[in-house]
Amino acid sequence: MATDILICTLPPIGPVEVRIRPVAINLLLPGEQWSYSFDLAGRLIGGFVAGANYRRSFDGRVLRKRAGPGGREREWLDEAAAAAFLARAYELAERAARACGDARLDVLAGWTPERLAADAAWFRRIYRPVSILPPDQYLALVIQATEGCSYNSCAFCDFYRDRPFRIKGAEELRAHITEAQRFFGPAIGLRRSLFLADANALVAPMPRVRSWLDAIDEAGIRRPGDILPSRVFSFIDAFDVGRKSVEEWAELAARGLRRVYIGMESGDDALLRFLRKPGSARDVVEAVRTLKAGGVSVSVIIMTGVGGRQYAANHIDNTIAALAQMALAPGDIVYFSPFFAQPGSEYSRLAQAAGIEPLDARETAAQEAAIRRGLAQVALQGPGPQLARYDIREFVY
Ligand code: SF4
Repeated sequence: MATDILICTLPPIGPVEVRIRPVAINLLLPGEQWSYSFDLAGRLIGGFVAGANYRRSFDGRVLRKRAGPGGREREWLDEAAAAAFLARAYELAERAARACGDARLDVLAGWTPERLAADAAWFRRIYRPVSILPPDQYLALVIQATEGCSYNSCAFCDFYRDRPFRIKGAEELRAHITEAQRFFGPAIGLRRSLFLADANALVAPMPRVRSWLDAIDEAGIRRPGDILPSRVFSFIDAFDVGRKSVEEWAELAARGLRRVYIGMESGDDALLRFLRKPGSARDVVEAVRTLKAGGVSVSVIIMTGVGGRQYAANHIDNTIAALAQMALAPGDIVYFSPFFAQPGSEYSRLAQAAGIEPLDARETAAQEAAIRRGLAQVALQGPGPQLARYDIREFVY
């Protein structure tokens, strides 16, 4: 299906361009002073206004990103500012829909503040907060097969402290999927993959994981030209990989599991212990080998800046050494995630007690560059993995 481009006039603004794409609708002022994007259910995805980028989460919040004197600034708008941004976007969208007179734009009309609030509440009834996804999975259809993290005690991580870990049964997951399908409706076309959340969903025993995949298959989740269950992704912690055999990982790969994301954080065992992260770098290497032997690609996430100056040298050297043993290849990703200590967090208390000197943004970026240089020098066999930045402040779902 091709993109249809309509030009409609909105007095006193003048002509605006409306692009009706197979999976989204874009509204643009020629000259690009502003633009807005909507999914096919009519939900605003984001916009570009006066040099700032905006992203709307399904639970109704709005993140603004723009260039500032100290670099890229990110700020969640307060309720009033978010409401004003949404009201302006939908006023323009509704007027464009009327001016163009194309029935495919009807989904943009009628988004009153009350309807927006009800829609956000609907999302919150279906989902526990989607705390984080890897950057290449921001457009996934999230299916929360588990809630929380089975460990939930790493000193630097507060993503799931608000909920106990629990594994959903097949019937409960079926109901969750049905609700998610109803919520997304035609907007499912924008979802590029299926992400089994929360953290460590794949720690569940094989019979349970099989029952989930059966439920997902039965739901018949499709997007134009594709079925999402053929592209399943998930987080897992290294110390949980060994609960499944290579054969079981191969079975999951055959059922659509493409890649799992492992928070290695560091190849330095002393730093891992400081971070209260269970296991060792060796465990992560073994976990990656097990997964790859089963035909599942991996993404290894490294935190940069964590452990400050005291751990920096060993963090760099031992991380390069560990990554070099993983035989990472195309389809695998090494993510570099700059660490931001939250005031009052367990990490901050530990760091203060240990007299850790934090690295600033420039030093943290230099640490990433050093690991990248190290990896380039390592004689990896054949073409290597993708290397990319993972800035958790960019995440919106
Ligand atoms: S880093 Fe991973 S294992 Fe550790 S608490 Fe967070 S989600 Fe759980």
